[in-house]
Amino acid sequence: MRITPSKCESQMQECYGDLVRLTRYTDLALRAVMRLAVLDGDQLVTTRQIAESMNVPYTHMTKAVAELQHLGVIEARRGRNGGLSLTAAGRDTGVGELIRTLENDREVVVCEGDTPCPLSGACRLRNALRQAQMAFYASLDTVTVADLVKSPTGPVLLTLGAAPAG
Ligand code: SF4
Repeated sequence: MRITPSKCESQMQECYGDLVRLTRYTDLALRAVMRLAVLDGDQLVTTRQIAESMNVPYTHMTKAVAELQHLGVIEARRGRNGGLSLTAAGRDTGVGELIRTLENDREVVVCEGDTPCPLSGACRLRNALRQAQMAFYASLDTVTVADLVKSPTGPVLLTLGAAPAG
C-alpha cells in the first residue's frame, strides 16, 4: 500500500507528536519568565498576578514558579510589597537549555518501561530521533529569554493584567 502524504503526516503525529509539543508545565514556565522579563528595574509581580495576566489557574502557575526559583531563573522577595523578578542569569538563559531542563531531557519515544521494545539497545531510529531532538534544542539556544520579549511580544505583555506590586 502506498501511504499518501496526509496518512503519513497523521501517523507521524500519532507516533512522534510530542517531538515538538511542550508539556503544559513547560509552557506555563515560559509564560512566567516572559511576563517577568518585561519588568523594569525594581518592579515585582506576584504569582497570582502572573497567573491572571496569562489566563491560567493560580495553582498550576505556582508549581511552575517554584521550579523556576529552584533553577535560579527567578527570585522572590518576601514581605508586604514582595513579589517575583527574573534573575540576571535567567534573562540570559538560552530558551533551548531552559526547555531541556523543564522537560527533564525526556526522549521523544518511550523505548523501555513496562513493555520495553526489543530494539531499545541497538536502534538507529532511536538515535536519529535523539539527534533531531538535540538539533531542536540547539536551535532554541540561539534565543535568550530576553529575546522573547522584543517587539511585538513585550509591548503586548505590558498591556496584560494587573499592575506590578511594590
Ligand atoms: S528502540 Fe527504536 S523502534 Fe523501539 S521504541 Fe525505541 S525508537 Fe522505536
